[in-house]
Amino acid sequence: MTEIQQRYLDISTQLQNKAVTLVPVSKLKPVSDLQELYDVECRIFGENYVQELTEKYEQMPKDIQWHLLGHLQRNKVKYIAPFVSLIHSVDSLRLLQEIDKQAKKNNRIIDCLLQLFIAEEDTKTGMDAEELPEILALLPELSKVRVRGLMGIGTFTDDIAVTTREFQQLKRIYDETRQTQTNWDILSMGMSGDWQLAVEKGSTMVRLGTSIFGARQ
Ligand SMILES: *Cc1c(COP(=O)(O)O)cnc(C)c1O
Repeated sequence: MTEIQQRYLDISTQLQNKAVTLVPVSKLKPVSDLQELYDVECRIFGENYVQELTEKYEQMPKDIQWHLLGHLQRNKVKYIAPFVSLIHSVDSLRLLQEIDKQAKKNNRIIDCLLQLFIAEEDTKTGMDAEELPEILALLPELSKVRVRGLMGIGTFTDDIAVTTREFQQLKRIYDETRQTQTNWDILSMGMSGDWQLAVEKGSTMVRLGTSIFGARQ
């Protein structure tokens, strides 16, 4: 058992019976690290960069679900549209329209999350909650994207009160919106520094890089 495998299995065990999906975030890590997790039955990986994602997709076995977490430019959607399993980082209507267009070309439906800006610090990306109604109203026209819920990134801080407020706010918006959406079942919140808190506050999907693969350069 390698350290990466050990950490992955430990966290998987902690999440058992909690209905929370673990997404190992393998950005900037070599495929040999991903292969270690694949060997202990991991079939989901999250990546941030389109080129890195497509290269790893080519190199790894084909039964993996690839998630895109990082900011996505519209002109790059076409590279991942044939295979991506979930895009967490949809931050505009125009991006969603492009994903719909590329999904059509590939004759498939692409699952997406809307990334909301929740952090009190303003270095993080995402859309404002006020933009949600407009996008939701237009979803019926976008037949090849299936919006499954929300993603948010908490402020990077030791102040639990700040992160708690942010997660509670995201969960509240998720719950409210879910009452009007049939496909909503994913609330992606929680990273290495705050995933336990996120799970406590209602996350259904955590994205963990450092706590599984170790620090990135
Ligand atoms: C890098 C990244 C993660 C993982 O971060 P860690 O702190 O290493 O767990 C999760 N979500 C997003 C959107 C990221 O960019």
